[in-house]
Amino acid sequence: MGIDSYVFDKDRGPNLSQLQKIIKGCTKCGLARTRKNVVPGEGDPNARLVFVGEAPGEDENIQGRPFVGRAGKLLDQLVERIGLRRGDVYICNVLKCRPPNNRDPEPDEVAACKDYLTTQLSLIKPKVICTLGRHAYNTLFGVDEKITRIRGKFTLYNGTKLLPTFHPSYLLRNQTKMNEAWEDMEKLKALLAG
Ligand code: URA
Repeated sequence: MGIDSYVFDKDRGPNLSQLQKIIKGCTKCGLARTRKNVVPGEGDPNARLVFVGEAPGEDENIQGRPFVGRAGKLLDQLVERIGLRRGDVYICNVLKCRPPNNRDPEPDEVAACKDYLTTQLSLIKPKVICTLGRHAYNTLFGVDEKITRIRGKFTLYNGTKLLPTFHPSYLLRNQTKMNEAWEDMEKLKALLAG
């Protein structure tokens, strides 16, 4: 059964593990032909904090797990700064399959994948969402903002607090932005403590 038949039946919709299975079998866009593994997301299904990245890279495509490469190591450090461990949060991406050569997601790929992300968020019901980089934010809100304009400012996504911050891959290339990312993690820590 595809996600659509579940999503339209709110009373008998999929749980998170059923959704993972649906995502793993997805052939809705061309990335299904080039991927090695689908990367649905992982973590605590009852997480109070969900991180949303852009798309799996090479390491993630090989392992079928999100943020396991260099950017993932940095994300682990960001999570630790909040006083949490990776297993305490939920980590996923806008796209569940790797775009060849890590190119930007194409609009048709985002359109095909978006329901998976929004359904994950509505099933997990976190206290706060942290989007990593511009793609996650722009996808959820259907806008085209620059990360430098939106980063660090809380907003609401369907009634849930959302904080946009820099993507860890961007931070690896722009180390001077690390202080702002640490500040954002402190904001998340304070919110979760409250
Ligand atoms: N970058 C992302 O946006 N997601 C991953 O899972 C890995 C790198």
